[in-house]
Amino acid sequence: MSDDPETARQIEELAADDRPLLVLDVDDVVLEFIRPFPHFLKSRGFGLTLASFRLTGNIAETASGRLIEQEEVTVLLGEFFDAQADWQSITDGAAEALGTLGGRAEIVLLTAMPHRHRAVRRSHLDALGLPYPLLTTEMAKGPAVAKLRGKKGRPVVFVDDQPSNLASVKSSVADAHLFHLMADNSLRAFLPPTPDGVIVVDNWHDAAPKIAAALGL
Ligand SMILES: [Mg+2]
Repeated sequence: MSDDPETARQIEELAADDRPLLVLDVDDVVLEFIRPFPHFLKSRGFGLTLASFRLTGNIAETASGRLIEQEEVTVLLGEFFDAQADWQSITDGAAEALGTLGGRAEIVLLTAMPHRHRAVRRSHLDALGLPYPLLTTEMAKGPAVAKLRGKKGRPVVFVDDQPSNLASVKSSVADAHLFHLMADNSLRAFLPPTPDGVIVVDNWHDAAPKIAAALGL
């Protein structure tokens, strides 16, 4: 079971599929996030100066220099996701890579965002020509990936830019192939070394053949 009942409900709506399973994060894996987000912030009078791999503590009100609190970050993120069609483009190479994998694998997008943004993201992905099923979760991703896989033990690849999500899937699906892909590789400077068993890829061109191999395609 996914621990998030709404995510579990969304998974139930998918048709049963026994092809190899490719589960992808969205922000900074399929869609650009950390590059457009500062432009959005600027339009609202805020600035992002990344000094660590987190938003809270790194966003300041431009006029006053005041660092904003978690609550305000959450509000700004919500406004960004409501307006995502104006800001978020496809990460380089993602559409082509998914196009080549999609006939042979089941591709599911699993985004950690409030469920209320699901419809906006769905229409944006459709407009970009990315028709893959989209699931939202407000809880850990690992249990959702385990439920998606089903009981038949099919190969699983999971791709995310957030180390905590990779760790969550590792703990729920021990034999999943885990890929660390970041739309902006300069952020790797803020991260500890990648844990054993996680495959680091530089971009989608690097990732696509490795994912195909891991899925047995
Ligand atoms: Mg992400």
